[in-house]
Amino acid sequence: MPRILQPGEIEALDHSGFPRVRLPQRGSLFADRAARLRQLAEGNAIADYLRFAARLVQAQHEALARLPATAPPPADRMALAQAHSMPLMPAADTLDPGWQAVLRTLLDALAAADDSPAALAPVIAALRQRTPAALDALAVQVLGDGPPAAELAAAPLVMAALQIVFADRASRLSPQDIPYTDPATLCPVCASPPVASVLRIGGAAGGHRYLHCGTCATEWHMVRIKCSHCESTQGIHYQGVQDGGSVVLAETCDSCQTYRKLVNQEKDPHAEPLADDLASLTLDLLMGDTAFARASANPLLAMAREDAP
Ligand SMILES: [Zn+2]
Ligand SMILES: [Zn+2]
Repeated sequence: MPRILQPGEIEALDHSGFPRVRLPQRGSLFADRAARLRQLAEGNAIADYLRFAARLVQAQHEALARLPATAPPPADRMALAQAHSMPLMPAADTLDPGWQAVLRTLLDALAAADDSPAALAPVIAALRQRTPAALDALAVQVLGDGPPAAELAAAPLVMAALQIVFADRASRLSPQDIPYTDPATLCPVCASPPVASVLRIGGAAGGHRYLHCGTCATEWHMVRIKCSHCESTQGIHYQGVQDGGSVVLAETCDSCQTYRKLVNQEKDPHAEPLADDLASLTLDLLMGDTAFARASANPLLAMAREDAP
């Protein structure tokens, strides 16, 4: 009698040889992103914000280097996720208590910087005064539908701390631990939406398109010309900024009327999904004049919920 193949066995049958998931690299993830943000700040309309983001991401790199290893997911949770095609550890349900100490480290680094925006001081002070329970509640909002309007300025700082612990956790997994999830439009590790998709170059992943998680930075493969929000393969189109090159294009979907950016390393080998998404805000402004809504926010940019009070 035929038996059902397990995910590891399916991988073994896959002769195409490219990785299904690309887990984040602790040593380079945030350093590469910070370098790219500094590069993209040159001549950019939002140069000051990109330089601030670069400083924040550099502080993430330094905090991650000092972070004690996060605990691996329990074996029963891994088995459950595999059996039900569910993400391994949905971020909002599995907050690591260590994230709050990471947030304090980030706030200290920003407060000590000479060139932090003056508007940041009250945001840092308010975050420091929150109780642990209130911080966890804010984290769940930021990971979920987005923060309430009053918390908009704090949201990128909270996300920055969460990204560190979730990227650390993801970086310690093995590709065979990662379930095949349905829908394929959420991160198979932490259930967050992708911030953007990226066409990779080099190595076995070269020439393949990956969705890049905005929270834990795991990348998972999705074929090209397919909506990364509703998985439609019909009515997919691309829009860019005139004379803006084609490193970053908006991939639009007629079915669900959303767009998400595609960052193309074939056009610039230094392209980094989160940084290039953030630096191409002009494209978002142009898309604001179309019928397409942005599918999900950039974690380092404060964006209000549609129904925010
Ligand atoms: Zn993730
Ligand atoms: Zn769609």
